[in-house]
Amino acid sequence: MATTRPTSFPVWIHEDDPAPEWADEVRALARQRDAVILAHNYQLPVVQDVADHVGDSLALARIAAQVPNAEIVFCGVHFMAETAKILSPDKRVLIPDAAAGCSLAATISADQLRAWKAEHPGAVVVAYVNTTAEVKAESDLCCTSSNAVDVVASVPDGTAVLFLPDRHLGAHVARLTGRVVGRDIHLWDGQCHVHEDIGGEVLEQAVADHPEADVLVHPECACATSALALAASGTIGADRVRIVSTGGMLDEARRATVDRVLVATEVGMLHQLRRANAGVRFDPVDPWAVCPYMKMITPSRVLTALREGRDEVQVDPAVAARARGAVERMIALGSPTGPKTATTGGAR
Ligand code: SF4
Repeated sequence: MATTRPTSFPVWIHEDDPAPEWADEVRALARQRDAVILAHNYQLPVVQDVADHVGDSLALARIAAQVPNAEIVFCGVHFMAETAKILSPDKRVLIPDAAAGCSLAATISADQLRAWKAEHPGAVVVAYVNTTAEVKAESDLCCTSSNAVDVVASVPDGTAVLFLPDRHLGAHVARLTGRVVGRDIHLWDGQCHVHEDIGGEVLEQAVADHPEADVLVHPECACATSALALAASGTIGADRVRIVSTGGMLDEARRATVDRVLVATEVGMLHQLRRANAGVRFDPVDPWAVCPYMKMITPSRVLTALREGRDEVQVDPAVAARARGAVERMIALGSPTGPKTATTGGAR
């Protein structure tokens, strides 16, 4: 199936760090509104630091479902805020910029998924959380990079899986579950443009520059296969390369005893890794791996969201009702990286 990868991406919007009063005003407004602020690991450090909770998609989805607040301010991209709304239809969910999309989620529409399902009757559809609400509504199970292996492993042997939309994560899941691509599991040919650009050559150069470093690679990265090849060839010890979700990276960071770790994912992740273990130097494999959509959530937009109560995320109730089952199964399955391991903003 052909994908609909966007041909252009927004420009990363740069804002200088705000004055110290900014954080005080954000927190005061959040208290007045009975709002909880959630921030994804790829957000700007200053946004992560003002949030009540910081984490990966799965952790934030779990928190969104549990918090008692009337309002959720979601500092992340649109599909994440939609997922929060699906899980908490009675809460107001705000995103500081509703145009903060995702190049990976844009690679498949609900119509394309319906056509793919028609080609594989009886297959179980496993959708990565990086999808629109309409695509989730067409899916049987939802997953994140934290629990994709567990979710696919929960599908009985002999039942084919349609895995979408990320082909690199799909290949990683196929490897770990022993499913044969094209027979037991079919992969949508989608990719995130940020992780796609972290390729094998970039990783090989970083490893050559720092042969003493351990390596953490997000499974969405194009270099995931190269990382395994480097380990197989003995260029780097197999025990020093790990392909892990963002939640898994934090667990690895807390355990790390080496001097330096190279990290292949969006650069916002480094902020939480450095907070988790100040004794280790965490360097990006690619310092230009910046998600322009995540960086649309600027400090001034966070403040505007709280002052003006916008942008409110809406999901058609019928679509949300059909998507909720898949999302709730995602929450229930796999390794919990929920509020226990999500980091909590220090200020409140
Ligand atoms: S890093 Fe990639 S997958 Fe994540 S929000 Fe940005 S475009 Fe989407």
